[in-house]
Amino acid sequence: STVLGIETSCDDTAAAIVCSDGRILSEVVSSQTDLLSRYGGVAPKMAEEAHLQVIDQVVQQALENANLKETDLSAVAVTIGPGLSLCLRVGVQKARRFAGKFRLPIIGVHHMEAHALVARLVHKELEFPFLALLISGGHNLLILARDLGDYVQLGTTIDDAIGEAFDKTARWLGLDMRRGGGPALEELAREGDPHSIKFSVPMKQHKDCNFSYAGLKTQVRMAIESRNINTEKNVISSIDCEDRKARADIAASFQRVAVLHLEERCERAIEWALGIEPSITSLVISGGVASNQYVRLRLDDVVERNDLQLVCPPPRLCTDNGVMVAWTGIEHFRLGRFDPPPPEDEQEDTVFDLRPRWPLGEEYAEGRSKAR
Ligand code: ATP
Ligand code: FE
Repeated sequence: STVLGIETSCDDTAAAIVCSDGRILSEVVSSQTDLLSRYGGVAPKMAEEAHLQVIDQVVQQALENANLKETDLSAVAVTIGPGLSLCLRVGVQKARRFAGKFRLPIIGVHHMEAHALVARLVHKELEFPFLALLISGGHNLLILARDLGDYVQLGTTIDDAIGEAFDKTARWLGLDMRRGGGPALEELAREGDPHSIKFSVPMKQHKDCNFSYAGLKTQVRMAIESRNINTEKNVISSIDCEDRKARADIAASFQRVAVLHLEERCERAIEWALGIEPSITSLVISGGVASNQYVRLRLDDVVERNDLQLVCPPPRLCTDNGVMVAWTGIEHFRLGRFDPPPPEDEQEDTVFDLRPRWPLGEEYAEGRSKAR
């Protein structure tokens, strides 16, 4: 089968066409990072506007690049949550109109499940069960994927996600936010001394698999203020800036501790996961922050110590994309999990399934007692 995937949960408008044998026939992403870097965050109404402006074109381009007609498709998959409801609505409405018109079944996809499952597209040998660390702008999850659609949440963030901490730190350091703060911060961190500032690792005293990044953000903010770094003077140029070294030290020290927190949580999650499913052999890392080279390097060490294998999709499949949605659609479609085509003449005000808040699987019940 051949599935069209549509993704609009946050600030990227994406569409892709993928075959059940794993061939990617096309992938199109239109980002709003210009808008974001100007306004300093995702303003839902503006993001919705931007999605509306490009969605038809993005889907059309995906078909053209794949050299396919609408009727060559087997189904349409679309992210129905979690995410900003105004944004999700744009994608779902497009998917429903499209599927209605061409009489295609439709599959509602969980955005974080898609981040995890794309690993099975990239890495054909990856079987359930496996452990997944999903790290992005809005989520920080440790998930035991027992089977398709059967997930146990071992850990989540109690405040911010690591991507949010990267973005804030990058902004405060005056970095170029046009590609999102993460890549710029990673780059600057290479010039800094990761041990120059002693940030403390979050949640040391909590023996669970949860995350916290709000406190680290505050520590960074204080370090910036105490060093009199001018946060008004934005976008440091690549060559000159007298306090560039001071900024790089902060970037490197932040990155080291932010990732150390991931390492510690993964160590424990591996222990927990092996207790539940002794047959796991892989740790998947995905989500935008998993495209960070330092993150990959450090987690590679963790899995090696535990005789596991690290599976990490290429950066363009770690950040938001349509391929992961199409692929997750395929995974469900081949097990018969899909909805019939919507009516061809669906009314504008039809109520459909949108899940802005949608946990991925049950919380691990024994986690609390283990943590004591
Ligand atoms: P979510 O998946 O939680 O809904 P999202 O969809 O906005 O959030 P993604 O596109 O998956 O997030 O990831 C974007 C995040 O990844 C941003 O916070 C960005 O800064 C971060 N990121 C991207 N590349 C890197 C990198 N090289 N290093 C660190 N962080 C990065
Ligand atoms: Fe995402």
